[in-house]
Amino acid sequence: MKVAIIGAGLAGLRCGQVLQAAGVSVSWFEKSRAVAGRMSAKRLWGGHVDLGAQYFTARNPAFIQQVHQWQQAGLVAPWLGSIYRYQDNHLVASPDSELRYVGMPAMHSPLRANVPDTAIQLNCRITELQYTDNWQLTASDGSQFTGFDQLVLAIPPAQARNLLTIDTGLQQQLPSQLLLPCHAVALQLSQAISHEAAAIFVRQGPLCWAARHSSKPGRLTEHQQWVLHFNAGYSQQHVDTAAEQLISVAASELSTMLAEPVQVKDSCHHRWLYASVANPAEQPGLLKSDQLPCLVIGDWCFGGRVENAWLAGQAAAEELLNG
Ligand SMILES: Cc1cc2nc3c(=O)[nH]c(=O)nc-3n(C[C@H](O)[C@H](O)[C@H](O)COP(=O)(O)OP(=O)(O)OC[C@H]3O[C@@H](n4cnc5c(N)ncnc54)[C@H](O)[C@@H]3O)c2cc1C
Repeated sequence: MKVAIIGAGLAGLRCGQVLQAAGVSVSWFEKSRAVAGRMSAKRLWGGHVDLGAQYFTARNPAFIQQVHQWQQAGLVAPWLGSIYRYQDNHLVASPDSELRYVGMPAMHSPLRANVPDTAIQLNCRITELQYTDNWQLTASDGSQFTGFDQLVLAIPPAQARNLLTIDTGLQQQLPSQLLLPCHAVALQLSQAISHEAAAIFVRQGPLCWAARHSSKPGRLTEHQQWVLHFNAGYSQQHVDTAAEQLISVAASELSTMLAEPVQVKDSCHHRWLYASVANPAEQPGLLKSDQLPCLVIGDWCFGGRVENAWLAGQAAAEELLNG
């Protein structure tokens, strides 16, 4: 069996790794210049800064086992900083029993550690699909890839909808408007912040999250770095707002929350068009075509988040191996 996987985020990578271990021939196609999708960190300020996924939790026994393997290999570590909540104009300690893990030294580390280079086409955006006896994929530069028995689209539903122009019966099953955007801002500060908060769940104003990046294990601590996320509603309303304006709003909000001046030495912005699921309770599961050998998967199948991306990849591989 030859399988083509479009998308080398955690779901696509996990699916392919399980298939390869069972002796299946796998080819990945990824539009970015590196794997990891929404777990990617940006090379910045002499290290990497996590602009997408901030941490992950593990509840499923199989995923817990995976996390322990990553931990033994030094690819992830628990993040034990103090958690706060900002609500009703107050910053209050919000300790919980959640064990939060981060990739070491960047969120993408466990994904990039053992990727077989030869089977992955990077910088390769698939723009067209055809099926006659087997799958034929066409990339944006005109390159063609043929001869695949099975196709896995490990990408957000809106991107899958654009690709699935031939009749698979999947268009109708794809949930609409499931993943919402998020503006992410990283700030390097020129002064130390005295407040002890490592992360803040923000429940008012334009932000939803603020993290002292340098409090995560394995990160550079020389300068104070913060990562701030705008909430989905604000990000949607300001989807085309200029980076400078968002950076200025983020710095001002951080200063208000911490009740300290925030002097920005350098900054960076990233817009995620498809960030997190709108309604985690809506869990369509793996989408499988009745007409053609094709699956559509991603974190959104099981309610979003890193753990569910891994579980979706695992479930897709089991579906292809066991039918
Ligand atoms: C700002 C932000 C904060 C988050 N915070 C957390 C958190 O704290 N905890 C948590 O558990 N989760 C968090 N998440 C969610 C987490 O990152 C995702 O659940 C997980 O990474 C999704 O993996 P995936 O493989 O399903 O999808 P993705 O990572 O989106 O992978 C899809 C891949 O497909 C590629 N692709 C798309 N279309 C094509 C095409 N046509 N051709 C080729 N390649 C294509 C993309 O480039 C991408 O690499 C966050 C996400 C964001 C964006």
